[in-house]
Amino acid sequence: MLEQERENLVERLIKWGYLTKPQIIAAFRKVPRHEFIPGGGGSYAYADQPLPIGKGQTISAPSMIAIMMETLDLSPGLRVLEIGTGSGYNAALIAEVVGRKGTVVTVERIKELADFAKENLKRTGYGWVKVVTGDGSLGYEEGAPWDRILVTACAPEIPEPLIKQLKVGGKLGAPVGRDYMFQTWTVAEKRKEGEIVITEHGGCSFVPLIGRCGWRSDD
Ligand code: SAM
Repeated sequence: MLEQERENLVERLIKWGYLTKPQIIAAFRKVPRHEFIPGGGGSYAYADQPLPIGKGQTISAPSMIAIMMETLDLSPGLRVLEIGTGSGYNAALIAEVVGRKGTVVTVERIKELADFAKENLKRTGYGWVKVVTGDGSLGYEEGAPWDRILVTACAPEIPEPLIKQLKVGGKLGAPVGRDYMFQTWTVAEKRKEGEIVITEHGGCSFVPLIGRCGWRSDD
């Protein structure tokens, strides 16, 4: 039943053009979104919409996650840093694509959510993903440089530490903008040290990235 709902969602995302790459499609087919939603999400688990996960945060809509993953050209073996773990669902999808030869580290500022994500990842077979509690606007220096950095909360601009921690040839995706209404999914490619090429991929709506290089908590 849930498998069929998941398959229907994947078919819709393919039909609408959000999913195109075979490895990303396979990950969406495999990772059980309902396992990452408090209470399982009922009939909404495989609807294309964001859902609450507690602490005022959300698990993103599947079509938005598809845009994030497709624009970053995720592929097996990459070292990926995610900022904004939330439920852990996006981290599990990334893990499914990069595989055990790759690396996935995800940073969450709210400890209760980091713990929730750890449990979800372990239960679904992605316990090897490293979940770190901290301010992801500063990146995660210990594992740098990263092939890919995926930010799932909106900042006024791409945090400088993340650009520094990106490998030459690497790509970073982040929602950039002023508030919920004016955000753009932005991809930064580091062509060489000091040369960053920015492309924009349409409007989006994310919770704020709160931290030293994001918004202040009282903004
Ligand atoms: N990727 C998540 C998932 O699959 O469920 C959804 C992420 S939710 C849209 C954004 C998350 O970013 C929230 O859990 C929020 O607490 C977190 N966040 C906000 N500011 C942060 C920061 N400076 N460092 C790390 N996480 C942050």
